[in-house]
Amino acid sequence: METTTIVRGRPILLAITVGVAIALFATAVSMMGVRTAQAEYTVPEALGGPTTKVVEAGPPRNGVALVPAGGVDLWLGPGREPYFTLHEGIALGFLHRDGDWLLVTTNCNDTAWVDSADTTVLPAGTGQEPGPAFDLSEAVVVLDPGHGDRDWGGVGPSGLAEKHVNLDIADRVRNLMEASRDIDWDTGAVTAGSAVPAFSSAVMTRDVIGPNDGDFEANLGYRATLATAANADAFVSIHNNTVPRFDTEIPGSEVFYSIGAEGSDRLAGIIYEELLLSFARFDADWQGGELLGARARIDPETDDDYYGLLRRATVPSVIVEGVYISEPDEEALLASGEFRQAYAEAVYRGVVRFLTTTDPGAESNRPEYFEYDAGTVSGNVCTVPAQP
Ligand SMILES: [Zn+2]
Repeated sequence: METTTIVRGRPILLAITVGVAIALFATAVSMMGVRTAQAEYTVPEALGGPTTKVVEAGPPRNGVALVPAGGVDLWLGPGREPYFTLHEGIALGFLHRDGDWLLVTTNCNDTAWVDSADTTVLPAGTGQEPGPAFDLSEAVVVLDPGHGDRDWGGVGPSGLAEKHVNLDIADRVRNLMEASRDIDWDTGAVTAGSAVPAFSSAVMTRDVIGPNDGDFEANLGYRATLATAANADAFVSIHNNTVPRFDTEIPGSEVFYSIGAEGSDRLAGIIYEELLLSFARFDADWQGGELLGARARIDPETDDDYYGLLRRATVPSVIVEGVYISEPDEEALLASGEFRQAYAEAVYRGVVRFLTTTDPGAESNRPEYFEYDAGTVSGNVCTVPAQP
């Protein structure tokens, strides 16, 4: 696909990018189900800047705007000047609105203004407490297929790339959440039915209807902001692992939880149990890391979450590492639709159980200090895709 792009840092585009080379940070606290956030951005020179402006953010000003077919204009300020048409199929989190104008975060974690009338605005999560009274028809979940574009993630011995597998699995989870279902909790089977209502929305950080069929770069800050803006009831990042340490009898699944976002450990423990149920009927020479199950990693220099995505999390958030794409048996499973569907059903059941029960789930491993570089590819160059 032929696309025009903004590549940050190119001098020729400086005049354009200065308007959007905007710092946005969200400090969000999660207390008793009430979250507040603050958005900060820079007013560009063309509009009398540079000055820093802090805006009140959070409910009821936050939410998610979907870019419809045909794309959406990005503006320098409310009604000021459109400068770029953003590609269709991207979900834009916003933490602040000014009348009909939304201050959104692009996939490169820049901010820009859009006219809400040019988008489809989804309601944010309502902050219900998990338990039997939880109304799933109001549930908002953000699904995050890990990696994208030149960040391939793990690659299997026969060349299967994690970024594609993660996207397909997340898309399957979304499809499960968007219709009502029956669940057989003993076998894990998920079928068409009416016992479990359709969720209000399942938002994708990379969507197959987006640029390059969903294979585009999504900055970690963008992904986390989308979950905060959506006030998501759960934020689930889908991955597969590399570099195992040991043979194991059971799948070497791991689910990393945020130590800073309440409820994340319980979500991780429940999804882990559901992964084992889903994977039980598959056979492989399973490989695992030094620990299986629900885990957390702490950066010893900050005593905060090691993973950037989980460090930015303000809602129950996990990174799921289903199986080892680096191993021949497990790569072969990940290549099959049947296994991907089983993986997706596990995530779906895990989120349903997390929201509608008070089940504790599998006991979490205690957080571990982690001093190594997890090797993410991001940050230096990010492209905001233009509508062709
Ligand atoms: Zn990954």
